[in-house]
Amino acid sequence: MNEFRRELEAELGSAVTFDPQQTKAYDHDLGEMPSVLMAQIRPVPDAVLAARSPEQVASALRIAARHGVPVTPRGQASSGFGGAIPTRGGLLVDLTPMNAVLGIDPDAGTVDVQPGVVWNALSARLRHAQLDLCTCPTSAPASTVGGWFATGGVGIGSFRYGSIGEVVQEVDVAGLDGRIVTVRGPEMELHHQTCGTLGVVTALRLACRPALPLRSFAIQLEGADGVPALLREARERLDAYSIAFSSAAYLRMRAMAEEEKPAIDRGLLALVTVTEPPGSIPDLAGVLAVAAAVGGTVLPEEVARREWEDRFYPMRIKKLGPALLVGEFYVPAAAFAEACRRIESALSGDLVGIEATAVRGDRMAVLAYLVDPGAGLLFPLRMAKALLPMRIARRLGGSAYAPGLWLASETERCLGSEKFAAYRRKKVQMDPGGLLNPGKLQVTRPRWFPAASLSWAIGIGSTLAGPISRRIPSRRFPAPRPAR
Ligand SMILES: Cc1cc2nc3c(=O)[nH]c(=O)nc-3n(C[C@H](O)[C@H](O)[C@H](O)COP(=O)(O)OP(=O)(O)OC[C@H]3O[C@@H](n4cnc5c(N)ncnc54)[C@H](O)[C@@H]3O)c2cc1C
Repeated sequence: MNEFRRELEAELGSAVTFDPQQTKAYDHDLGEMPSVLMAQIRPVPDAVLAARSPEQVASALRIAARHGVPVTPRGQASSGFGGAIPTRGGLLVDLTPMNAVLGIDPDAGTVDVQPGVVWNALSARLRHAQLDLCTCPTSAPASTVGGWFATGGVGIGSFRYGSIGEVVQEVDVAGLDGRIVTVRGPEMELHHQTCGTLGVVTALRLACRPALPLRSFAIQLEGADGVPALLREARERLDAYSIAFSSAAYLRMRAMAEEEKPAIDRGLLALVTVTEPPGSIPDLAGVLAVAAAVGGTVLPEEVARREWEDRFYPMRIKKLGPALLVGEFYVPAAAFAEACRRIESALSGDLVGIEATAVRGDRMAVLAYLVDPGAGLLFPLRMAKALLPMRIARRLGGSAYAPGLWLASETERCLGSEKFAAYRRKKVQMDPGGLLNPGKLQVTRPRWFPAASLSWAIGIGSTLAGPISRRIPSRRFPAPRPAR
């Protein structure tokens, strides 16, 4: 480590720190894990590079490779899947200082950015050029473009534009050999969703949409059975941009956290957002037709406006906690209602709220929230309950939402067999020593515990989740407080 330090400091000067006071700040992300599991890894990096240029990233990778030091890339650490947490100390590359917009091409409708640019800041820049983001996560006020691409995911706008992987056109990647290459197509796809385990992304080109105004409508459905029909109608009649769903239980949790009245008291609220060409009038007739086709009711404009304004704050319900357990998964739209029924039944003793985003290709990305006291001897067991929704979804043709430290054992299911096989071949070629973000994607079956895969242990925990879930409740609904 001494020789590594000498060489890194000689090449990168004050951009790098080995000060334990500073490196300690990078040992966590926004997720929650019991200390008994965190004790199985070395989450505090030995050194942190606050990267300001692609060349600095490339040099640091080359030096780390020469000394066999693991490297963890990090954006804003908002992912909660543990992807940005080091498992074996080493070098952490903080990409947030690389946050420049490199160029906007209004004719091509594209933007080139550094990986540390934050989504909402990018949106503001694009609007000056009459463009806007095709899709962004609901963490857009804080999270980075590079971090979302490396995690993979869907968000606002994914009903029309699909996942972040479908919006990014090419990326520059720095490898352990110190070279930076531009990749696109199937080669680029191997860097999407793989947590920087093949290289560190130093620039991205994204497709943009014309900056047309957005308008949201809130429709109350009696239940989730009407969701596939709603998606079909909203696509055909409205060419909707984004569709998000909140269960009445989730809205009740949010209302409890905010001490106000919930928007609905039963069923499901669908927030359908459309783009409006300038000068056109809102297609109210179309919205009413969509609602009628699925037996839903259009709610007052005020409800839709409020839901849209609140889109970046889904985690406010954590106030009810202190802890929030989150189960996240994909499921085919046709199986969404059944998934909701099974989750609510399996966790009937708990406070469970469901939020979902409709994705191009009739998929749903679903979040099941469980409010939990967050402490005590049984907390690790209760945490396993967050894996139960994913297990239920799997039986219905779904999968985990993203790999990462906690769900590394789901890698093959997340990526799909074909992409997984191609990824493995590339990993052997690019990083045979497993230095790039170790422990985040499981390439082989773990041979020993715990270093090989923490997520393997978590997988075992998840098989216990079913039997324990009813016996160890997290938190039941308290008596509702009077509405304001
Ligand atoms: C309130 C809230 C709302 C959220 N909403 C959504 C949502 O709508 N959709 C969704 O999918 N997720 C969502 N998330 C999860 C998370 O915000 C996203 O995954 C986010 O985009 C991650 O960005 P980040 O900058 O925080 O990345 P990090 O968490 O810092 O990193 C994520 C992963 O990418 C790797 N990485 C980071 N930068 C690079 C790089 N330049 N090159 C290579 N690898 C890199 C890291 O090692 C890590 O594995 C939400 C989280 C919160 C807290």
